[in-house]
Amino acid sequence: MFRSLHMKLMLIMTLLIISLMTVVGAFLVNSVAGYYLEQFYSQMQTVFQNDPEFYHDLENADPEEPSGPQQLDQMLRARAGDLGVDGLSRNYYVLDGTTGAYLAGSNDVEGVSLPLTHNLSAALTGEVGDDSDPTAAYMDVAIPVTRGNRDYVVYIKDSKQEVQSLTGQLVILILEALAFGIAISVLLSFLLSKTLITPIERLTEGAEEVAAGDFSHKIEVDSRDEIGVLTSTFNDMARQLQSTLQEVENERNKLGTLFLHMTDGVVAFSQHGEIIQSNPAAEEMLDRSLPIGGEVGYTALFGDIAPLRDALEPGALGFLAASRELGGRSLELLLAPFDRDHQAGVLVVIHDVTERNKTEEMRKEFVANVSHELRTPLTNIHSYAETLVDSAGALPPDMEKSFLNVILSESERMAHIVQDLLTLSRFDSGKSELNLAPFSLAEAIETMVNANRLEAERHGHSLTLELEPGLPRITADRERITQVMMNIVSNSIKYTPDGGEIHVSAGKTGEHRVWLEVSDNGIGIPMADRERIFERFYRVDKARSRESGGTGLGLSIAKEIVDQHQGTIAIVDKVAPGLTVRVELPVEGPAHGPA
Ligand code: ADP
Repeated sequence: MFRSLHMKLMLIMTLLIISLMTVVGAFLVNSVAGYYLEQFYSQMQTVFQNDPEFYHDLENADPEEPSGPQQLDQMLRARAGDLGVDGLSRNYYVLDGTTGAYLAGSNDVEGVSLPLTHNLSAALTGEVGDDSDPTAAYMDVAIPVTRGNRDYVVYIKDSKQEVQSLTGQLVILILEALAFGIAISVLLSFLLSKTLITPIERLTEGAEEVAAGDFSHKIEVDSRDEIGVLTSTFNDMARQLQSTLQEVENERNKLGTLFLHMTDGVVAFSQHGEIIQSNPAAEEMLDRSLPIGGEVGYTALFGDIAPLRDALEPGALGFLAASRELGGRSLELLLAPFDRDHQAGVLVVIHDVTERNKTEEMRKEFVANVSHELRTPLTNIHSYAETLVDSAGALPPDMEKSFLNVILSESERMAHIVQDLLTLSRFDSGKSELNLAPFSLAEAIETMVNANRLEAERHGHSLTLELEPGLPRITADRERITQVMMNIVSNSIKYTPDGGEIHVSAGKTGEHRVWLEVSDNGIGIPMADRERIFERFYRVDKARSRESGGTGLGLSIAKEIVDQHQGTIAIVDKVAPGLTVRVELPVEGPAHGPA
């Protein structure tokens, strides 16, 4: 009920007022009662003690007077004013000195039923009874008087009625003041709560919003007191917290993005072997989904490499390495333990080495091919030269000449291969730059076809040319493009049996591209080999290629050149007989200069 600060404040204020008023009230009431008591006895003292004459008169009987009690009564009545006797709350009585019986007084009704008080008892034994008793409901003084040969007691008794009515009024006053004080305390507590509790409540609301993750809310600072300082400190703290959280979030996002898009696969396992994290690359490489906390765990995925226990404690090296062939891919795996929040686990990094292995394979194959391609002409040169040396002068001159011709053509072939390899190596190292300039494609094609005409005729081929009208000028390296076209046309001449048909055509595709097609009705290339003929040294029929002086590098050089121009070269998807090669080039040349 009194949980809120406001209620507590009100309660404290009310209790404070009540206790204060009680203390003040008790003090006041006591003081008033004490004052009256003191007043009573000092009055009595003035009359009976300080006025010896009066006392003397009391004790000495006047012989003229009829009786003692009446005389005493008269004397006392005469001094009623000094004694404060009013006949209501304070009275005087003349009592018999031995029996205490009422003889005369200011109140006959009270007088006959006077109780025997301490002071009265004392007076009856001859002592003056003037002991004050603040706890008693009355005040009294009893004085023994011997008049003639009779003993009397002059007894003054105050019923404290006046004091009681005064204290009653005081109590009412105090209660009124109390009610007033409580009303003020309620009002004050409201005011206090306004100035004290309202900012605290605002601070609490702000703290709740911050706890709920809303940092945008700024608590207004109205005062410069302790609460004001606390509020502005809280605002600073919330701002600091927000920027720290933002930084953490950014870092997390960065790591998350990195983790999501990294090419290596990563799978993290808990110490119990459950998946706690994985990235898309890992799912793709392992060719399965890897749900977090799913049924598939470490043992099912990598248990064959090492049991989880060994992976968690891999020994001095700190990790375990393994490799795996999966779905045509070569994977390299690295199993390393980690400790996150003192929760050990295993991190598996999967590296796809298929490409690397393939490149390595190709490199080996390339070296083997180069060695082989160079060894064949070298062997020929060596054996012919040896024969010539061994049988120097013994061979008929025309045979000698034909041997020397073989040596010559083989060395030319070697020079040709070396030249092609140098061209390719320049492409590979990026040192080959295109000499771009605008030229007429139609003219370049015509020149190229004319240059091949003689060779085509030698084989009895018909070489036809068909150019779309309005073929534009293109920006390209004319010499290189001519080299590409020459290679394609000379291939058609080479791989078409004598008397074949070779057709060269060119045209425009849209505004920005031109195309060139060379088709023949020769031996063609089986579908299975078509993909590979742009590879270095790839030849469908090695013997035939070599026979016709081919190196197996022509089309790969052509592809490099066309790629540099940001064009395409491909075999047109037509079935045998023959082969159609299509080249497409951008009219404006490569968009961002040579690649
Ligand atoms: P090569 O110097 O052997 O001609 P290329 O790179 O120019 O080398 O050609 C690669 C291979 O593609 C050739 O060895 C040949 O087997 C095949 N080829 C190229 N053009 C044709 C064609 N027009 N008809 C049939 N086969 C072809």
